[in-house]
Amino acid sequence: MGKIIGIDLGTTNSCIAVMEGNEPTVIANKEGYRTTPSVVAFSKEGERIVGNAAKRQAAVNADRTVFSIKRNMGTDYRKKVDGKKYTPQEISAMILRKLKEDAESFVGGEVTDAVITVPAYFSDAQRQATKDAGRIAGLNVLRIINEPTAAALAYGLDNGQPQKILVYDLGGGTFDVSIIEIGDNLIQVLATSGDNHLGGDDFDQRIVQYLVEQFKQSEGINIEKDVAALQRIREEAEKAKKELSSALNANINLPFLAVSKGEPHHMDINITRQQFEAITMDLINKTVAPVENALLDAGLNKNDINMVLLVGGSTRIPAVQEKVREIMGREPSRNLNPDECVAMGAAIQGGKLGNQLIPGSTASEIILMDVTPLSLSIETFGGIASRLIERNTTIPTRHSQIFTTVGNYQTSVDIKVYQGERKFTKDNKLIANFRLSGIRRAMAGIPQIEVTFDIDVNGIVNVSAKDLDTNNEQSVTITSSSNMSEDEIERAKWEADIYGKQDETKGELVEMVISAENMVRTVSAMLKEHKKDWDKEKRKNIKETCSMLSKALGKTTPEKVTQIEAQQIRQAVEEMQYTLEKHGIKI
Ligand code: AMP
Repeated sequence: MGKIIGIDLGTTNSCIAVMEGNEPTVIANKEGYRTTPSVVAFSKEGERIVGNAAKRQAAVNADRTVFSIKRNMGTDYRKKVDGKKYTPQEISAMILRKLKEDAESFVGGEVTDAVITVPAYFSDAQRQATKDAGRIAGLNVLRIINEPTAAALAYGLDNGQPQKILVYDLGGGTFDVSIIEIGDNLIQVLATSGDNHLGGDDFDQRIVQYLVEQFKQSEGINIEKDVAALQRIREEAEKAKKELSSALNANINLPFLAVSKGEPHHMDINITRQQFEAITMDLINKTVAPVENALLDAGLNKNDINMVLLVGGSTRIPAVQEKVREIMGREPSRNLNPDECVAMGAAIQGGKLGNQLIPGSTASEIILMDVTPLSLSIETFGGIASRLIERNTTIPTRHSQIFTTVGNYQTSVDIKVYQGERKFTKDNKLIANFRLSGIRRAMAGIPQIEVTFDIDVNGIVNVSAKDLDTNNEQSVTITSSSNMSEDEIERAKWEADIYGKQDETKGELVEMVISAENMVRTVSAMLKEHKKDWDKEKRKNIKETCSMLSKALGKTTPEKVTQIEAQQIRQAVEEMQYTLEKHGIKI
């Protein structure tokens, strides 16, 4: 079989690597650069331009240039160019196709197999979309692995020594923190956190704002609305930012930036590292809370972490490194190139998969364990989200639970699958919906319906429901278009934190009403059943309390119950329990 390439499909830049002997090697693109901007452009003539060339022409063709498409993976977003709409998968596929071609000219033959990396928090829809993009580009995606896991592989941390690692990944458009545990042949993501809208682009933007302001003051010209001039400034701002990682000063020189009253105006501005740090310190500070949250989620404190890895080009900024040192109280590791280590790790994983596929090979496989970014549940009576898979569960995973019907003689159930942390389904995101029919007619509570969630190594979810009596089964694989976007995930997590307590209280109320309703149903059935053998006094007592409870329940429903109604129901339930106990009846 041919070589398996490792691809880091990044928000701003992508990188490819391949195993050469026992070493991962970064493949330079045809233009000679080791990373390729994840930028796609369409020329007026309908030609597609990808990478460095696309980035370079952006200033003069802003409307037809697509940046940061990774942010839209797994969503319904469409990029419209000249009346044609492109999905995020199609745009990503254009980047992947260029990377594939670059790899082919490097290895001197066709390349079809690849391992692609994604952020650890990517939902199954986003992973699916990434796989689809690979397929569209003509790649056979053997495995989707998490970026922090790939970084750990690149650092050679799969050396059998158990350790816990924090990966601080500040790229061009996103910030991700992951805590991973490395054990015997096992790499497990313990927790992830981050900020989907924080990265090198924001640092560039701060310099742009600074330059626009300075230009306004010195030349009296506002160039905020001049798209082409802004793009030129942005490019120079990024260059200056990079320079400031090693120098204390950078100069921005843009001749003929604007024309006013027939006079050309040039930009010639100096910026010091100190000034740069002053205008970006708040951005760097925004990385502190996600680090703390990830540690909290993993149940660890900073002293439990054996190593801190820096990933992403923006970790080259000295003030960023200083901040990591400050938060973690230790020196982060910087032996590898932060732009390249993810692709290198993907190549290592590709190498391992390749060895496995060679008959007789003894190469041991590293098992990569990832986590689910959000909890998965199904809707049960009262609009409750009954969780089957908790957030941050290690995948692959499979979990089954038995449910039953709420109505008498119900022959079908609708299985509604939700993603999110809230107690009620209305606050979570519906990601799949299917019907299981052919259930044998029976009283409520008799049928046994087994619902199974199965998440594979790539994070792709399959949900099935089976009637254990008739063996009728229905299942659904959750596809990219039905799932949650990155933003929605972050929002869901945020809302869950904010509304958690409120949901809990409401959830208890709903559960209380449901159990009171069940009590009335059971006691009524018992009264019928023991019509003859219970004495008059006992029957009367139980009947009275049961109708009191029934009255307290009135016309309310679990979803609509008010605090006052709940109080009355609670009292009636206590009364019912007392009466049943008095007569030695257990339900
Ligand atoms: P990545 O997505 O990991 O490729 O990171 C890309 C981001 O890293 C971009 O915003 C780059 O401008 C930024 N970057 C690359 N090199 C440097 C550097 N030397 N100093 C500061 N930022 C850098």
